[in-house]
Amino acid sequence: MQGITAGFYHGGQASDIRERTQSDFISGKLSCLVATNAFGMGVDKPDVGLVIHESIPESIENYYQEVGRAGRDGRLCKAVMYVNWHGVNLRKNMLDNSYPDKDSANRLYNYLCKSIKGDSGIFDLKALLLDVGELNQPKVLKLLEIFNQEGVVSSQPQAGDGTKFTVNAINKAVIFLARKLKLASYHKLFISKRDKLLSMLEFCRTESCRQKFILGYFGEKFGQCEICDNCIN
Ligand SMILES: [Zn+2]
Repeated sequence: MQGITAGFYHGGQASDIRERTQSDFISGKLSCLVATNAFGMGVDKPDVGLVIHESIPESIENYYQEVGRAGRDGRLCKAVMYVNWHGVNLRKNMLDNSYPDKDSANRLYNYLCKSIKGDSGIFDLKALLLDVGELNQPKVLKLLEIFNQEGVVSSQPQAGDGTKFTVNAINKAVIFLARKLKLASYHKLFISKRDKLLSMLEFCRTESCRQKFILGYFGEKFGQCEICDNCIN
């Protein structure tokens, strides 16, 4: 596409770069912005005409808020979403890794208890994953974060590529690990987020009116649409 000035925006950028990109987009200097959902909270640009999702959002709530950035000037606008199984699986994995289950927690805890000699030990993530099995890197890092928060271990990543970490102390007196880590509340959050993702998938698959689906999700009624892809087809 020639003649389109595009920029990009994500949460890992320095704040001055993000601020400049945001103001360039609002002033119209940039006519297209490729962004993660870090962009847009509180941004009120009236003339956004098209919002494209390259993958599915994590919930209907997020989707509704994100497409709501288009058409604030009252003009007809478009929302397009690309859905593929890679993106869906990515979302499922992110969810699974963010809310680790009891078995994974026990597996890692037992491994650390068994392996640490003396007051501290250095662990290599790749070797650990091979030894423990059925865990992956994001899940181990999340578990270590929870272990740290709840006083089960004290660990820090070592300088470098983040695949080595030091465990300084481990609380071997923990009898009910799941209870100590409050894993039941993590599980509740996991179920709630999983249900939201399932609703999002249902929205993708529906052959009925999409506007009606969204408003029904929020408990509201809807009359005539005739502009969503399902109503047109
Ligand atoms: Zn419709």
